[in-house]
This record gives sequence, structure tokens and C-alpha cells, in this order.
Amino acid sequence: MPTVSCPVCGADFEINEKEFEDEVVCPECGALLYVLIEGGELRSVAEIGEETEEEEWEEEEEEEWDEWEEEEW
Ligand SMILES: [Zn+2]
Repeated sequence: MPTVSCPVCGADFEINEKEFEDEVVCPECGALLYVLIEGGELRSVAEIGEETEEEEWEEEEEEEWDEWEEEEW
């Protein structure tokens, strides 16, 4: 039974499939992962990560706000 290691939070969870290629939600952190299993072995795990991109945008906006506050003072 192949074990998938979440690239986001590091949690290990098992998928009871010998042939599997689909999106999986991490049971620990809820991250959306693309998992590829061939011949009962894990071939690929990748974060699909739409939420991560949104978080990066929020961080950039916060930095811009800090700059504005400094200019006003
Ligand atoms: Zn996770």
C-alpha cells in the first residue's frame, strides 16, 4: 500500500490503490495534492495549491500597506 507524504505539512497517509492518478485532499492540512501511483508504488506527489497563490497575494498586499503607512508619517 503506497504511502503519500504531504509536501505541505509532511503528514503521511496511505492510498489503497495499485493504480491511481487523481487529486487527493490531505487529511491533515486539507491541501489539494496531485498524486500518481503506478504498479503499487508512489510515482509523484505535487501540491496543486490554488490557496497558496492567494496567500502570497495577501502577503504582498500587506507589504504595500506597510509602505503606504510609512510614507504618510
Ligand atoms: Zn498536509
